[in-house]
Amino acid sequence: MTISPRAERRAGVEAAEPSRLEREVAGVFAEQPAAEPSPWLFIVPSGPPSMSRVYESLLTVADGVTGTRGSLEEDGPDANPSTFVSGVYDLRYDGPEALLAVPSWTTLSTGRSPGAGQRVLDLRSGVLWRLVGADGTDSLRCARWACLARPGTTVLVAEGSSMILKVPASEEVVEDRVGYGGGVIRLIDTNTEEHLGTGEGDRRFRVARIASFEVAKSRAPHLARASTRQQAARRAGPADLFAEQRAAWDSRWDEADVEVLGDEELTLAARLALFHLISCVADRGEAAVGARGLSGPSYAGHVFWDADVFVLPTMAATHPRAARAMLEYRIRRLPSAMQAASGRGLAGARFPWESAHDGRDVTPRSGVDEHGETVPILTGEQEEHITADVAWAAWRLASWTGRWRFLEGPGRPLLVETARYWASRIRHDRAGVGHIEKVIGPDEYHESVDDNAFTNQMAAWNLSRAAELVERAGSSKEIEEAGQWRSLAHTLSDGYDPRKGRHVQFAGYDELQPIFVSELGPVPVAADLLLGHEGVARTQIIKQADVLMAHHMIPEVLRPGTLERDLDFYMLRTAHGSSLSPAVHASLLAREGRLAEALSFLDIAQSIDLDDATGTAAGGLHMATLGGLWQALVFGFAGVDVRHPDTDALSLDPHIPGQWRELRINLRWHGHLVRLRCRSDAVHVACATPLRVRLSGGLPVLVTPPGAWVEPDSRPLSLEL
Ligand code: BGC
Ligand code: BGC
Repeated sequence: MTISPRAERRAGVEAAEPSRLEREVAGVFAEQPAAEPSPWLFIVPSGPPSMSRVYESLLTVADGVTGTRGSLEEDGPDANPSTFVSGVYDLRYDGPEALLAVPSWTTLSTGRSPGAGQRVLDLRSGVLWRLVGADGTDSLRCARWACLARPGTTVLVAEGSSMILKVPASEEVVEDRVGYGGGVIRLIDTNTEEHLGTGEGDRRFRVARIASFEVAKSRAPHLARASTRQQAARRAGPADLFAEQRAAWDSRWDEADVEVLGDEELTLAARLALFHLISCVADRGEAAVGARGLSGPSYAGHVFWDADVFVLPTMAATHPRAARAMLEYRIRRLPSAMQAASGRGLAGARFPWESAHDGRDVTPRSGVDEHGETVPILTGEQEEHITADVAWAAWRLASWTGRWRFLEGPGRPLLVETARYWASRIRHDRAGVGHIEKVIGPDEYHESVDDNAFTNQMAAWNLSRAAELVERAGSSKEIEEAGQWRSLAHTLSDGYDPRKGRHVQFAGYDELQPIFVSELGPVPVAADLLLGHEGVARTQIIKQADVLMAHHMIPEVLRPGTLERDLDFYMLRTAHGSSLSPAVHASLLAREGRLAEALSFLDIAQSIDLDDATGTAAGGLHMATLGGLWQALVFGFAGVDVRHPDTDALSLDPHIPGQWRELRINLRWHGHLVRLRCRSDAVHVACATPLRVRLSGGLPVLVTPPGAWVEPDSRPLSLEL
């Protein structure tokens, strides 16, 4: 058969025309960043897999709905892939409900493992890259991400030699998983193509995979919704989804970036922290943020005070919708919290120490110690400060947005019902002093203690803020009740000892064996393992910031001058056996201008996940530590102080170490998008709308767009402003 020249040309052109898949995959790979050190790139070099499980945590990509650990794409002993689904829990027969893990969507059956290669998490655009071998028969290149702009959609593109990649022809997989009360449907669409590489005998595969997750928390998930999402993502294609991802992250960084000029390593650690914080919190509906976010199975994905106290402030200061979604999780569980209170014959709402699907307490009642003995766990029964922490989180959100609307509307019961709980929980002695007995404070080494200073102060704060809220707009009956709250707050013992000029952590604490943590070794140290559960309880060694937590959370109500004394006393006794503790110390020390000490605690906080300092990061990242790192920079070193919705100015009091040139922070305050450049003697405030700034306790200064340097002697606002 003869072929006409025209037909021959057409065939030639068609053969040369790249397929859609080729264009899509090439479009994504064209964006791969050069893996050179940069404070935007978290680079994991190829090497022995000694920290491979820890890197799986650190390389998690999440979008608030799903979180996929950074496991290798191939099956085998080097990979332990899992994807967690936010807010859906597995009802287990043998233990408390645990965050649901669904089978991996990232596995590409590889012929033989090519080794991990170099992996690069690009924080700027939210994409995880992997590069094995530069080219040729041993090479593999992958990019994956969880779409921040369309939560529940994930993408993986790969290209590699057919010696490595053995991908089946294009396939579609549908699977569903049932959790407690809800479930998940996954649709996985994989497109593959085989083609010739540049070298001899070099046959290659290219792959584009899009997975869609339909998550339902209290009903069966709808397949139709998953398909609609899947079709929309397929229509867009990986290259457009990539562009969308970059734009979504750009806009989040615009409102959240932190940069330390003069310390690139710290900048990278701060951005990595922000990256994981942002990606584990949904910004619509409700956001259940577990202690390890969506990056691992530890603590069964349960929601602790870590969420309200350590994660929420970052969200409130950068993306209030996400903080609002976190509080929605608490609001929807108020009925359970009220039941928990009434079950104890008390009023109001008592939030559970550990919470999961329906807001009942899911704290395990026992555990196994290092000798294999079963020991009771009393935190569920006694670690009650969580109830005030939830109220604090609601107030904090309003303080950042400057709006009462949330507190006067859906957030109101979070203050009012928690205040009612404390009002019914406090017992008075004959002298009229109020007490809260038999609790565990943040320091879990001491159980069943009376008048834990932190718990009492948080309860008093909770009562006073709820009273303030009710007094703004409440019925006369409510205002009368608020009056009782105010007097209860006033009579509650706060642990302050005027003779010592500091707070006593709980009744009887000062009589315990006075040993210093330096006698046990360098911190962090698991003092409960060294001295035994009962042994440590007999000493003054504490697990984590406790009295100091009150200075961190509610500095406005603590007696002036006590921070220094409390720091000096408790620092010598704190083991930092919880990862929550070092960053809080860094923050407080920075506020006090003790910068060398602050920096050394900041370093410990960074090492918790980056160096796996406590040997627990394989089970997921410590979200509270990551939030604490951000708080130390913002509240400690920049001295940002946000405590009341009615505050008329953004307060700053920077303490910048000599080796930093500038600390740059983007945040949102009272609706203004603000960019701060903090130096030790001045702060540049950039804004798009006029705002008031108070520097180092001075008078407020009006800053008008595009911004200005504010110095201690800047001209204060004239009265008519
Ligand atoms: C934690 C407690 C927790 C318990 C059970 C302990 O390691 O310190 O806060 O309640 O585990 O999950
Ligand atoms: C800490 C708690 C924390 C929990 C979960 C425990 O070790 O003592 O304060 O809430 O871990 O991160």
